[in-house]
Order: sequence, then C-alpha cells, then structure tokens
Amino acid sequence: MKIYADNAATTKMSRSAIDAMIPYMENVFGNPSSLYTIGQEAKEALEDARERAAKCLGCEAREITFTSGGSEADNQAIISAARIGEKKGKKHIISTKFEHHAVLHTLKKLEMEGFEVTLLDVHENGVVTAEDVANAIRPDTCLVTIMFANNEIGTVMPIKKIGAVCREKGVFFHTDAVQAVGHMHINVQEMNIDMLSLSAHKFHGPKGSGILYAKKGIRLTNIIEGGAQEKGKRAGTENIPGIMGMVKALEDACASIDTYTQHLLPLRDKLIAGLSEIPHSILNGDRQQRVPGTVNFCFEGIEGESLLLLLDDKGISASSGSACTSGSLDPSHVLLAIGRPHEVAHGSLRLSLADDITEEEIDYLIKSTKEVVEYLRSMSPLWKDLDSGKRPHVI
Ligand SMILES: *Cc1c(COP(=O)(O)O)cnc(C)c1O
Repeated sequence: MKIYADNAATTKMSRSAIDAMIPYMENVFGNPSSLYTIGQEAKEALEDARERAAKCLGCEAREITFTSGGSEADNQAIISAARIGEKKGKKHIISTKFEHHAVLHTLKKLEMEGFEVTLLDVHENGVVTAEDVANAIRPDTCLVTIMFANNEIGTVMPIKKIGAVCREKGVFFHTDAVQAVGHMHINVQEMNIDMLSLSAHKFHGPKGSGILYAKKGIRLTNIIEGGAQEKGKRAGTENIPGIMGMVKALEDACASIDTYTQHLLPLRDKLIAGLSEIPHSILNGDRQQRVPGTVNFCFEGIEGESLLLLLDDKGISASSGSACTSGSLDPSHVLLAIGRPHEVAHGSLRLSLADDITEEEIDYLIKSTKEVVEYLRSMSPLWKDLDSGKRPHVI
C-alpha cells in the first residue's frame, strides 16, 4: 500500500487546478502589463481571479495581493505592520513560540533593528488564548501575529477572539493561515483579521503561489522592488498560471469543507485512538481543537528519523515535524514550546491526511506504526533502560 500522509508539508495538485493553469501557459500567455489582446486577456483573468479569491475569504478584491507563497506573505505582512508602527513610535510585536520560521525569522530580523518581540508561551494543549494576548498587549504594541493552525501539531487558535482583543486595543492582527485555509471556514471580516497569509500548495494548488490579504487602509511595504505590479506593492510579472491554479484550488477547497470534514473527522479520530494504544505514546495538541487532517504523536524511546525511514519502506510518506526543519538534528521548536522534553520531542511522528484517505488506509497506518515503533524499541538500549525501570518513563 502507498499512502501519502504528509499533506501539511505539501499536497498533490488537483486535476481541476492543473486544468485551470494549462490555458494560461499554452494560449493566454501574455504579460498582463502589455496592451495587446493576449496581454489584456491575461489581465482580465488576473482580476477575475482576485475577485474570486476575495469571495472565498470574505473580503474585497483590492485587499488581495498575490505573492510567491506563504513565506513571502508572512514576511510582507509583518514588515508592513512594523514600518507603520515605527512611524508612530510603536516597536513592540507579539507572536508565539511555535510559529512557522517564515514568521519567527522575520521577527528576529526586526529585533536586530531594535524592535522588541514578545513570543507567547503555548499551553500544553498546543493553544494560545485571547487572554494570553490581551495580557501581553502594551501601548507600544504595533502588531500581533499568531498562526491560525499549527503546521506540526494541527491545533487551531481562537482566532476570532484574538482578533476581537486586537481590534479593541487598536493593534493590527495578522494570522499565518497557511494550514487553515481550505481546511476550515474562514471569513476575515467576521473573524476580525487585518492581515492573513495563505499558500496554494497546502490545499492542492501549485507551489510558489500565495496570497496576502490586507484590510483596506493598511499600507503594504514592498519586499520585492521593481515594476508596478500588484498596485506597486509586489513587483514582478504576475505568475498567472500559478494564480489561476491557486484560485481554482481555493474555490474547490472552500466549497467542499463540510464534506471534507465529515469524511475526515471520524478517520482522524480512529487514527488517534489507534496510535494511543501504543504504550508510552502521547498525542501532541488538543484532541478536539485541531484541523481535520493533522495528527502528531510522540513515542518514547525512539528516534523520529528511524521511524520515518521504516515507514517509508512500508510505503508511507510521513514527517516528524515540519519539512523546513527536517535535516537538522534539533528537536522541533513546536514540541519544545508545548513542553515536551528534548528526548521525547525527538520521537515524534506527524501524519497529515488528504481527504481521499480510506478506512483501510487508516488501519494500515495504525498497524504499520505499531510494528515500526515496537521494532525500534526492541533494538534500543534506551528503551531497555526504560523498560527495566533503570530510567523513569517521561510519558
Ligand atoms: C507551508 C507553510 C508556510 C510557508 O508557505 P510556502 O508557500 O511554502 O512559502 C508558512 N506557514 C505555515 C504555517 C506553513 O505550513
């Protein structure tokens, strides 16, 4: 059996998204800035796509900027709010310890420029509350940036409440919604969101396409300088095929959220129940407050990397954290943020499901993981110490 269970890293493109791109590579390949017909056709398609994307998010077309993905959107949102803030003498930013590195590294850069950054602790259940945010806001706070759903453990933040706190205090609120868009209902107006980042390849669209939503009135700062594309806020010839594929995938995903959730929830819960049967294992993140497809466990006494390689031999593509940090031997900053000790954080497994997963595949995931964990433990000197009581179990 072959199972791709790493949809939080990237997804397979849908047929309809691919089909939506092809005409813009074969026929309507013009530059939207050109005045002749095929240029203007591309321009019309671009503006139509902007309208359609806006409809999916509950905003206006002029509030949509097309970017090269989630990372760029995160960078631009944070830098823009920082530039607006510093003009008013406000140089304090609030975020969390378990953001994506696109956020954390941008904040690091601002810190070196003299901004002060508060990274909120994350509760053991993988959630940051509106109260945590309210307590951290200061008169000089210019931005709160908190992810909608965490990419490693799948927990979902109370975004609407956090947004309400920020509105009340007059602080910009940005959310990295890369793991949530297309997987949950999102309306930026109803949820009090000032800026939002999304990425097409996390919902069956193409890689290298994303959106930054910024509420009208927020002046964006250019990250990429050059021509006057995207109202002068994002230079570079527009990636029309990518944008067409992204918006098609976004429409499809948003239209099928209810059926997607109905199908996935019982299977996800079955997976959680099955993996929980493994002794000395622990689910990372709240059992309920999570996106429908992502499950993350720690198994004591094993190494995540060995687990992944052996699962790969069984035809299962999984991850032990985020794709961005794999290859490094440091334990996940997300698992450390929710309080897992280093040695436990090393033994993590993330399974992120697509909506076409079947019950037989879930059974196979459970069976294979059980076998591999048992096999690795049978060879581990560390596990022998734990098993014999020489070292105490942590979980
Ligand atoms: C994937 C991801 C990103 C980065 O998006 P790209 O389009 O790959 O740049 C940012 N934030 C989160 C939470 C992600 O999962």
